Amino acid sequence: MARVLAVDVGGTSFKAALVESDGAMQVWESEPTGGALGEAAYLRLASYIGRILGEIVGEAPSALGLIAPGMDERNGQVIFAANLGWRDFPLGARLRAAFGLAVAAGHDVRTAGLAESLLGAARGEQDAAMIMIGTGIAAAFLCNGQAVSGARQMACEIGHAPVYPEGEACACGQFGCLETYASAAAIARRYRAAGGTEALSAAEISRRLGADPVAARVWGEAVEALSIACATVTLMLDPAVIVIGGGLAEAEEVLLSPLGAALARRLAWRSPPPLKRTSLGARGALLGAAILAFRSQGLGIAEMVAAAGPIA
Ligand SMILES: [Zn+2]
Repeated sequence: MARVLAVDVGGTSFKAALVESDGAMQVWESEPTGGALGEAAYLRLASYIGRILGEIVGEAPSALGLIAPGMDERNGQVIFAANLGWRDFPLGARLRAAFGLAVAAGHDVRTAGLAESLLGAARGEQDAAMIMIGTGIAAAFLCNGQAVSGARQMACEIGHAPVYPEGEACACGQFGCLETYASAAAIARRYRAAGGTEALSAAEISRRLGADPVAARVWGEAVEALSIACATVTLMLDPAVIVIGGGLAEAEEVLLSPLGAALARRLAWRSPPPLKRTSLGARGALLGAAILAFRSQGLGIAEMVAAAGPIA
């Protein structure tokens, strides 16, 4: 049975899993980046991968599926990753040379979206959107069965779509971006700024909605901002489903139910697509990286799709 090593390079930690062709995964403990930047971040990652390759029992993986923020899928270069201090960094080529393994590279959110469309909540759909809401917000769009990456590999940055022109300042330099109102980090920050009694995470704020008017207001504003973005996505792309992932998706119906209602209100002449929570969760990115690696070796993923079971 063929196997590949999937590596998810995140802004704060590295994760890896050995993935078999039926999707079975052996996941390694993640490794914090420790704030390392540039070459130091690369050396830390290479040491993590080297240790894992040494610990693998049995047949060696035939390829490495690599995902990172800001990744250019065509050449394995990281265009820009602020948290890792990489700009035009040849990550794929460096790892290929270091370990003698074929490397298939993907953009983190687009690759998670690919997995969701083949194995997860958008399984079987040719047109779908996935919005990942965590510290930031990014999206993956599937159109006619193809992931949209754009002319410069910079598509899907929905977190910086303006929802309130002249609104609050965003770290990107613009004003009124979706991410400024609706990311988990923004919800926590805005709750505190609005007079929230203590520093709480977005998850904690979501559990106070009935009892804390500041929590209810900030959460409601995040839902409104998301509904504007989801309405735009719906009108542009007509997705069969919008899958919501990332840390904020753990709020489940506390998020999806008011968001679905707000989206329906914003679409006067057509019905809204259903909103679903990701079914792969954090495993989606690693499974997506593995799919890229299998495909790069000319191997299909039929076994993995069969193991995922029928469409719910
Ligand atoms: Zn922005």
